[in-house]
Amino acid sequence: MDAPVNSKFPKIVIIGGGFGGIEVAKGLKDAEAEVLLLDRNNYHIFQPLLYQVATGTLEPDTVSYPLRKMFAGQKNFEFRMTEVTKVSPETNTIETNLGTITYDYLVIATGANTNYFGNKEIEANAMPMKSTVEALNLKSRILQSLEEATLRTTREEREPYLNFVFAGAGPTGVELAGAVAEIRNKVLPREYPSLNKDEFNIYLVDMMPRVLPPLSEKASKKAQEQLESMGVQVMTGVKINTFNGDEISFEGGRVIRTKNVIWSAGVAGVVPDGIARESVVRGNRIQVDNIGRAKGYQNVFAVGDVAAEISEKLERGHPMVGAVASQAGKQLGKNLARIIKGQPTEPFKYWDKGSMAVIGKNKAVADIGSFKTAGFFAWVMWMGVHMLLMAGFRNKVVAFVNWFGSYFTYSGGTRLILTKPKKDPVPVPTDLPRA
Ligand SMILES: Cc1cc2nc3c(=O)[nH]c(=O)nc-3n(C[C@H](O)[C@H](O)[C@H](O)COP(=O)(O)OP(=O)(O)OC[C@H]3O[C@@H](n4cnc5c(N)ncnc54)[C@H](O)[C@@H]3O)c2cc1C
Repeated sequence: MDAPVNSKFPKIVIIGGGFGGIEVAKGLKDAEAEVLLLDRNNYHIFQPLLYQVATGTLEPDTVSYPLRKMFAGQKNFEFRMTEVTKVSPETNTIETNLGTITYDYLVIATGANTNYFGNKEIEANAMPMKSTVEALNLKSRILQSLEEATLRTTREEREPYLNFVFAGAGPTGVELAGAVAEIRNKVLPREYPSLNKDEFNIYLVDMMPRVLPPLSEKASKKAQEQLESMGVQVMTGVKINTFNGDEISFEGGRVIRTKNVIWSAGVAGVVPDGIARESVVRGNRIQVDNIGRAKGYQNVFAVGDVAAEISEKLERGHPMVGAVASQAGKQLGKNLARIIKGQPTEPFKYWDKGSMAVIGKNKAVADIGSFKTAGFFAWVMWMGVHMLLMAGFRNKVVAFVNWFGSYFTYSGGTRLILTKPKKDPVPVPTDLPRA
């Protein structure tokens, strides 16, 4: 399978239509190049709002955007929906389920996936949330557990269905735990009158000493207060041993009976087969230089979560966040256009605009440089920023309407069980050290 746009120009193949990949393709809009974007899905996912899909506030199509529509009108652009199975830099080819594709320049923007740190039992039994399908599965699991609980007659029988454990107190765990707490506090009494909300326990667990480690201590403290005010039980400095599907056990001997463990305690880069092991560093990320060129290769580049620019100042690379992927993608697009023209490249410089996390209605924390805020103002800022960043006018309007409705009623969410709770079959190496 080959998909030339204009064969007289060099062909740049981008694997992955996430934050990094789409910016590379946009940056090449006016370049004398054929741009071929490959993704297993025909849509871009706005991952920061997946937790709202999992908890019913937003529909999956509001946090997704068709890649073909995004690039409609870009003349040097082609898209193919396919799974990349292998790259072969020695022959400048990649293997896909549509066949072999050749390239002159390759950009790997395959993102990251859930890291279980080698614990197969947790991997088999816990719910991840890195994709739209996984978010829908999680939503089904939450709602199915509530339905199951209504069928049980004793508190002991209901307990495993009404205990929810969120492993990992980074932004994803915090936002999910907060959103499930809102379901417990606002939806349960109204829609599940036979269930007692005091039996519904939400635990947020992390082996780090505080929630939201990437944010300031002040934001972390405030977030914990906000979570606890909503009834979330925060367990920091606690190591999880394992989860067998019925019980989660912790170092020190504590056990919680639960069917619901949501795992967001780690991520690892998704490096395609064929990339030399020497080019891969901690966190399963491809080591790149300051323009995104993969270590050991001339015409292979990596960007976003799967890439780690390592230098004296940056021992572990930039954080695995959307802002890094977008900014690095933009810069790489420009640099590839320069490389094709034989012009000098410009190094990527990350501009850290700050971090935020939302906990619930009127509850959020934000660190913008030295400016730190929490509560209503941070919550409004969070909404504004996410609306600006979402792709597509329709998605912005739908999100705004849903948020506005939820603010006043909390009945706007769609709580339909549409999928069977199962996991996305995306392979990821599991024998990795903690990033
Ligand atoms: C739940 C959640 C919440 C988050 N919240 C925030 C936040 O609030 N703020 C923030 O800055 N960051 C947040 N992040 C992180 C942010 O989403 C990532 O840093 C960002 O998406 C990385 O962009 P990327 O382009 O590297 O990868 P991705 O956006 O993950 O895109 C990778 C793409 O590659 C495709 N792909 C992968 N492998 C293959 C293959 N073999 N064949 C074909 N296609 C393939 C995938 O389908 C996907 O479209 C969050 C992440 C998650 C999961």
